[in-house]
Amino acid sequence: MNNTQVYPVKAFQDNYIWTIHNKTHAVVVDPGESEPVIDFLTSNKLTLAAILVTHHHADHVGGIKNIVSHYDVPVYGPKTETIPPVTQKLGEGDSVQIDSLDLTFKVLDIPGHTAGHIAYFNNQRLFCGDTLFSCGCGRIFEGSPSQMLHSIEKLTNLADSTEVYCTHEYTLSNIRFALTVEPENKNLVDYEKIVKTKLAKEQASLPTSIGLEKSINPFLRYNEPSVIEAARTRSKTPVSNDIEVFATIRAWKDNF
Ligand code: ZN
Ligand code: FE
Repeated sequence: MNNTQVYPVKAFQDNYIWTIHNKTHAVVVDPGESEPVIDFLTSNKLTLAAILVTHHHADHVGGIKNIVSHYDVPVYGPKTETIPPVTQKLGEGDSVQIDSLDLTFKVLDIPGHTAGHIAYFNNQRLFCGDTLFSCGCGRIFEGSPSQMLHSIEKLTNLADSTEVYCTHEYTLSNIRFALTVEPENKNLVDYEKIVKTKLAKEQASLPTSIGLEKSINPFLRYNEPSVIEAARTRSKTPVSNDIEVFATIRAWKDNF
């Protein structure tokens, strides 16, 4: 296993700027703000090696300009989105090599939240921006439900042990919605207790894992009879396939 650690630098109300570091170097993912990143790097005497970006929203890219004025580093981001500070454009099948951390990330295209959204994956850890959240998924701003479902399936095909680093601390409110969809899901009841305990200690509820999400996340459970039944009850129109179940649950959450 690689000798790096991941630390959640907090930003705004509920963003995490995930910082992957060893004793000397660091990479930051989606720095929406610069000050907390620069503070973390300075106080831990870390040299920034690169910035990774998943999509163009301001709460993910807003800090980059100021960070690169302090650290002259490559900025990796999606090739189909216009993000001015990005210097290295990436898409499905590309990889990112960070020599100072001995890390290689594979790039996955996961459109839906935004049209060019990408994820970074290194066989152990997944940085998936605003596509998959613990017990939830991102809003579909620039894609269709079928596109988002396809992207989520791509992530759930990764190993159950994959650690999932999402960009927002939405877990507890997502659990409340998930319990509305699946009130009988015991895993959800247990998970709510665990998450409340972590948050009370001011710890991040994240990372989660692909395996855990399969047992609790309604947006991954569109094949479960309980979720299909809830979607049918909720929807005024017939719900007859995975995409319709997923779209119904997503629309429900949008108005929750
Ligand atoms: Zn976003
Ligand atoms: Fe966001």
